[in-house]
Amino acid sequence: MSHQQTDAIRIQTARSNEMEHSTAMFLTSSFCFDNAEEMRAAFADESDDNIYSRFSNPSVQEFTDKMVALEGAEAGYATASGMSAVSGSFMALLKQGDHLLACNSIFGSTHTVIAKYLPKFGIEHSYVLANASEAEWRAAIRPNTKMIYLETPTNPGLEILDMSMIGRIAKEHGVIFNVDNCFATPVNQLPIQYGADLVVHSATKWLDGQGRVLGGVVVGRKDLIKEIYLFCRSTGPALSPFNAWVLSKSLETLDVRMERHASNALYIAQQLENHPAINTLRYPFLPSHPHHTIAIQQMKNGGGIVCFELKGGIEAGRKFLDALKMLSLTANLGDTRSIASHPASTTHSKLSEAERQAVNITPGLIRISVGLENREDILKDILQALG
Ligand SMILES: *Cc1c(COP(=O)(O)O)cnc(C)c1O
Repeated sequence: MSHQQTDAIRIQTARSNEMEHSTAMFLTSSFCFDNAEEMRAAFADESDDNIYSRFSNPSVQEFTDKMVALEGAEAGYATASGMSAVSGSFMALLKQGDHLLACNSIFGSTHTVIAKYLPKFGIEHSYVLANASEAEWRAAIRPNTKMIYLETPTNPGLEILDMSMIGRIAKEHGVIFNVDNCFATPVNQLPIQYGADLVVHSATKWLDGQGRVLGGVVVGRKDLIKEIYLFCRSTGPALSPFNAWVLSKSLETLDVRMERHASNALYIAQQLENHPAINTLRYPFLPSHPHHTIAIQQMKNGGGIVCFELKGGIEAGRKFLDALKMLSLTANLGDTRSIASHPASTTHSKLSEAERQAVNITPGLIRISVGLENREDILKDILQALG
């Protein structure tokens, strides 16, 4: 086994007769057979030959193999988006009468899938708070609980959940532990080490890291991935080989990018923490963070997101966005370019004030996805906008 960083660079589709150095891109919807017998064997699952790109494709497989190695998983399947990875992991493994236990601080569309669509199939759910104690997690388990689902750090509250505690509870009850590792990425934390059976990703964010393509992936236990693969190959959320090629190239620089995102973010957080226009600031690797102890145990660095709450609420948030000169206002995160967002007036505007409070979205909350620009330039833009 080589190091994670080397795997992300050196895992590669077998070289073709052209002897290319960078992997070729396999933009093909189907694959050929030499004869009827080979084709029969492939369809009978007696060989691993590629048949059709909804099932498998070399470019997609290269990206998947890298993610399996990075997360320390047994197997994986790549999908068209993060949401198809998340929903595929639910739909393939949960059935009528099962109960899904999730943390309430989760990505908006994931909440929609859980609360609006799973009930249509008779799948129950309930939520626990991000800061729930071990006793509260235990009390939330029901006889029919089949899966525990969470994100850490959460978006946009940046709460840190104790994966080793929750992983232990899942194991004791024989429940599938499914972690969305989008915010941290495998270079920062490895959920499987804390008992996760499945790890899902939106590859659209840090994994691509340059805001170019949508993608997703789920990795984990072989028996579970097999079910997800069979579900997805029939229902069709296959990752485009073009996007897979882009994402595989992105992974080659993931380690160095994430290190710089995190060091820039830590610097920005330290410089802004005591700013007079800011009520509170959250960054997992600042000692002031409420879950700092767990953060430094399970994460290698604090990640690339910094959140702060402006004095002056919703109006102050809107004014701050309007005053920014360099930072982008866009519905993405995990990009080379720094991005500012104001959840209360945008992504979470449809929630009631009480619902926003429940997931720590205060009216003046600003989320910064810290990019790879020079840290002084990022800080300068934020400071002038705060002024
Ligand atoms: C963006 C995001 C998703 C969904 O991913 P898409 O690629 O947009 O479908 C899921 N989870 C988290 C934490 C995200 O930030």
